[in-house]
Amino acid sequence: MTQNTNNYKIIVLGSSGVGKSALTVQFVQGIFVSNYDPTIEDTYKKWLEVDGRRYLLDIWDSAGSEQLLGMRDRYYSEAHGFVLVYSITSETSFQDAQNICNEIIDIRDRDDVPIVLVGNKCDLDDEERVVSKFAGARVANYELKCPFTESSAKNRVNVEEIFVEIVRQINRQKVITDDKVRSGSGRKWYRRLSKCYIL
Ligand code: GDP
Ligand code: MG
Repeated sequence: MTQNTNNYKIIVLGSSGVGKSALTVQFVQGIFVSNYDPTIEDTYKKWLEVDGRRYLLDIWDSAGSEQLLGMRDRYYSEAHGFVLVYSITSETSFQDAQNICNEIIDIRDRDDVPIVLVGNKCDLDDEERVVSKFAGARVANYELKCPFTESSAKNRVNVEEIFVEIVRQINRQKVITDDKVRSGSGRKWYRRLSKCYIL
């Protein structure tokens, strides 16, 4: 029996140096690349099984939202889901992630866009942490209204979980959208229903 497949486009966003490439490469290839060229953008394909179904993910490892220039609106419109990464060692990157999230919501003109907020480099917890886990969870829960987790690309902590969660978010949003289309409700009626939690 052939299984239904779904092809989802996912963009990994966040300021430079937070570990977007390290997370993507760790997820796709199972290795930690410690010196990835920060200017390189690339796309990767990977199959992932989530809740008994197979998904083909097109993952776009961006070089930062400011590098997208004129293409930004198009990319933001075409993606199914967004992995928004900051580093727990950088307050600025935490602020950037929040700003990017608001840009996405503005461009999509709806607030139920599938997004996962990720505080990477949690292996540096003792030495270099400046953003608390609580602060990440609070912003995700009360402001961005999206799921949140901390991760370590280096030690492969919560790496696969990020992509499982974004697939679930995309699926959830599809169900909500389909229901609204069926019932004829207007676009502005949509509301993000996901509950935030720490994976
Ligand atoms: P990008 O610019 O967001 O793509 O960031 P990179 O993936 O190139 O990573 C930037 C730097 O952070 C590199 O030196 C990586 O080795 C390091 N890095 C990335 N992820 C982690 C992590 O989980 N833990 C630690 N300790 N370092 C990381
Ligand atoms: Mg990179």
